[in-house]
Amino acid sequence: MHGYPPVDFKAELNEAQYAAVTSPRGPALVLAGAGSGKTRTLTYRVAWLLHQGTKPWDILLLTFTNKSAKEMLERVEDLTGVPRGQFWGGTFHSIAQRILRRNATAAERSPDFTILDQKESEQLFSGIIKEIDGAFIKDKTNPKAPVILDAYSHARNTLRPVVDVMNERLDWMKGGPEKLLKFCEAYEAAKKSRNVCDFDDLLVLWLQVLEKDPVALAHYRQRFQHLLVDEFQDTNRLQSKIIDLLASEHQIMAVGDDAQCIYTWRGADWENIVTFPQRHPGTQIHTIDINYRSTPEILSFANEILAHRPSVDGFERKLKAVRGSGMQPTLFTVGDTSQQAKLIGRKINQLHQEGHALADIHILYRAHYQSIELQMELNALGIPFVITSGHKFFDLIHVKDILAHLRFIHNPNDSVALSRVLCLLPKIGPIGADKIIRAAQEVDATQRRGLVRALRDPAVLKKVTDVAKDDFNDLTITLEDMLEGIENAKQVPTPVNPSTDLFTHAREKQDEKISRTPAETVRVCIEGWYGTHMKTLFPDWKDREQDLTGLIGFASKFSDLGDLIAQVVLMNGETSNKDPEPEEDMLKLTTIHQSKGLEFPIVFVLGVADGLLPLTRAIEEGDVEEERRLFYVACTRAENLLYLFAPRFTTSGEGYRPLDPCRFIEEMSPDCYDLADYAHRRL
Ligand code: ATP
Ligand code: MG
Repeated sequence: MHGYPPVDFKAELNEAQYAAVTSPRGPALVLAGAGSGKTRTLTYRVAWLLHQGTKPWDILLLTFTNKSAKEMLERVEDLTGVPRGQFWGGTFHSIAQRILRRNATAAERSPDFTILDQKESEQLFSGIIKEIDGAFIKDKTNPKAPVILDAYSHARNTLRPVVDVMNERLDWMKGGPEKLLKFCEAYEAAKKSRNVCDFDDLLVLWLQVLEKDPVALAHYRQRFQHLLVDEFQDTNRLQSKIIDLLASEHQIMAVGDDAQCIYTWRGADWENIVTFPQRHPGTQIHTIDINYRSTPEILSFANEILAHRPSVDGFERKLKAVRGSGMQPTLFTVGDTSQQAKLIGRKINQLHQEGHALADIHILYRAHYQSIELQMELNALGIPFVITSGHKFFDLIHVKDILAHLRFIHNPNDSVALSRVLCLLPKIGPIGADKIIRAAQEVDATQRRGLVRALRDPAVLKKVTDVAKDDFNDLTITLEDMLEGIENAKQVPTPVNPSTDLFTHAREKQDEKISRTPAETVRVCIEGWYGTHMKTLFPDWKDREQDLTGLIGFASKFSDLGDLIAQVVLMNGETSNKDPEPEEDMLKLTTIHQSKGLEFPIVFVLGVADGLLPLTRAIEEGDVEEERRLFYVACTRAENLLYLFAPRFTTSGEGYRPLDPCRFIEEMSPDCYDLADYAHRRL
């Protein structure tokens, strides 16, 4: 009838999966724990529907990443021979884009609209602010375009009134955030007149098409006979409304796990999954509690994490193992984060020697900065690694910005570094920066007080555009402050034997100048102009601030600024210039967020301590349950081996900071893991 090769659905699926895959028409919710085959169920559902006579183009598959849609449809292609190009599958944004091209009029665009990337949206928005209220931009206590846009975006994705979100997020603004609304309105008009869409428009306008154009709505309801949605727990209100509209007459199968909702900070709303049956009357709920991914030991551990949720608002469940027994997860307590890096390096070498491929080992962490010491250790040991969640630490923009400050202070002739710093100022590009540098060089030629001080000369200030003058002033104060601390440190000679140098104490007293270590210099830099600049510029400044605190920790290992800078350059040279050979066996490092939906034979989770996981910020903001879900996601990635590392101190920031034991582990039964105490061992 359909001509597809036979698939033995019964043999390839368990009973609950089979029931879901073959379920009759009507809304269905597959609610199941990690690794229980949700993604597999959706994949087989596509194959099943084809076998039932459904055409590929009648199916809409929505996934969290385009890569995951591609993988699922490749599997379908293996099973049925239907090329994946015949399906509509991908992220909400990629599908929205296809639909809007066909319905541009209802979206108040023409079909050839272009999509603005984040940077372009921000540029457009700041242009608008400038046009409407030039004084707003000049007042540097006001939030800049990216920060306003981020709040605006949150409001749009959560379908909340913009004014409420602005009041919540930007309540610190002078005169209240109401005036931001007119910027947003003008931004909407500007996008329309330019025939462009920003990222959020793709979803907002998709919804608009469905709501405003009854013909289009009827068409897509008819067209997508089957809607399949993976990772449903991480959909936001806007996405869930689109789905509800499309699915009101047809079959929808949503799969998810409320215990894995880890994107609420981006507007994901796990209530979407909890209230699904109310929104879709007649919903069949399928639960799968068998886990095929992990050993029973790893699963008991994961179950224990969830067992201590204060109240189970979601659906309660426990994962059952089918795999044979393996090793208990091991919790390694270590003295501090640098010892943690050493121990991880050693364990990796050990596993490698035992015959495990490096590629089978994945190192997970809560935040990027937590991996710096490990990256150094891996370099030192010559263990090849890739970071699959974005950039290597020293390639991060904000880290490079701070390094540029340091490079310039250390070597004032490094005009590349100075130019990078100057280009951070408003309205200053490479040419403007060059003019400033040349003016400073001229001043220095006569004054001979060094380039850093020359920057503070009125003759140089004249070369700075008006909008940037205040920032320039603050920047040069910071640079001078940094320089003085270093100069003074160089001037105070360290006595060879302090106990015999009777004059040392007197000399120190006399010399009241501040002398600073490299770590302190980094702190001055972060707390100076750049820190303030960062807050108004980046919506995620808190994350970046955390990274930079990590940088202070890194710097605290050095007593000489030159050594610190050299080490960073060397590390970058060793790691990022060399593009990995695709077939090279390499260790993988990634954030927990990025590991969602994936599985790895061996998982190391580092920084299992209060302050790192859960993050201090989450503890302060009372958001610990999302951190628990993250911990659960991390541990349920592991197939065979799970190693956790719990440092007692962190060297992030200046000096040592004690860490409390991870509250999630404290609650858990000690029977579900082995404890290996390395805190008192030398490594
Ligand atoms: P996550 O919650 O992490 O997204 P998931 O529920 O989507 O996980 P899958 O990734 O679909 O789970 O499946 C986990 C692993 O178990 C995969 O390797 C999958 O092939 C395997 N698996 C699932 N169901 C079966 C089954 N019935 N027989 C054999 N293997 C299975
Ligand atoms: Mg999955």
